[in-house]
Amino acid sequence: MSMLLGAHVSIAGGVSRAFQRAADIGATAMQVFTKNANRWQASPLPAKEIKAFAAAWQASDVVSVIAHDSYLINLAAPEGENRTRSMAAFIDEMERCAQLGIGGLVMHPGAHLDAGEEIGLQRIAEALRSIFAAAPPQVTILLENTAGQGSYLGHRFEHLAAIMDQVPQGRFGVCLDTCHAFAAGYDLGSAQGYQKLMEECERLIGIERIAAFHINDSQKAQGSRVDRHAHIGKGHIALDAFAALMQDTRFVAVPKILETAPGENNCHHLEELALLRQLAEPKS
Ligand SMILES: [Zn+2]
Ligand SMILES: [Zn+2]
Repeated sequence: MSMLLGAHVSIAGGVSRAFQRAADIGATAMQVFTKNANRWQASPLPAKEIKAFAAAWQASDVVSVIAHDSYLINLAAPEGENRTRSMAAFIDEMERCAQLGIGGLVMHPGAHLDAGEEIGLQRIAEALRSIFAAAPPQVTILLENTAGQGSYLGHRFEHLAAIMDQVPQGRFGVCLDTCHAFAAGYDLGSAQGYQKLMEECERLIGIERIAAFHINDSQKAQGSRVDRHAHIGKGHIALDAFAALMQDTRFVAVPKILETAPGENNCHHLEELALLRQLAEPKS
């Protein structure tokens, strides 16, 4: 099986357009938004667009497609308008994924605002219990680890484990973002750091839960709790750590997605993907 490697690509002009952008960078995996990520409202996907998406996927080298949810959604919000809107918007996103045949929707767990971690995690779990009761069963939620900016939850594996534990009927995977893990304080300064991170992940949530990677370097230092993606090799994460991940045979079938700016004519993405393919080759 060839590597599942690619990037988050734009859906400007319609979701089906994403496949051309993936082809332009030689991607075998991609991530998309299924709507404008900065707006609450979205018109339903036209039947024509759903068909075009399926046809473009069929004709594409892209094997794996995942979606990322809107940045506005906060399932840790207290009872009120923001919470009601967040839940409705999230169910809508799951439905859009189901219509497009996308099996995994990446989400940020949410921000507890001033309520504290434990209450925030309980609110997320409560929201997800009703979401799973209402949403299409073919879509898995991929909980993403976060950098832990402000009151953002999900910067410790313990948070992700707590959410999954409290939603026994949930269909969950985990999306591991390297930039977020590093900014949250996990060591990715060496191959050993990467191995330790994975041991921690295995102990707290189970390696088999990892269903996607966001491969990003970090502009900010380890433990900064600030989320600023850098191009691979241009930030503080060690290339040895990326190499260890790329060579980890447990994750051959797990999509690896860049979330950096593509650059003019995709110059950055092309460079980064070439570098990652090179790092995937064991040094002899
Ligand atoms: Zn994300
Ligand atoms: Zn990410």
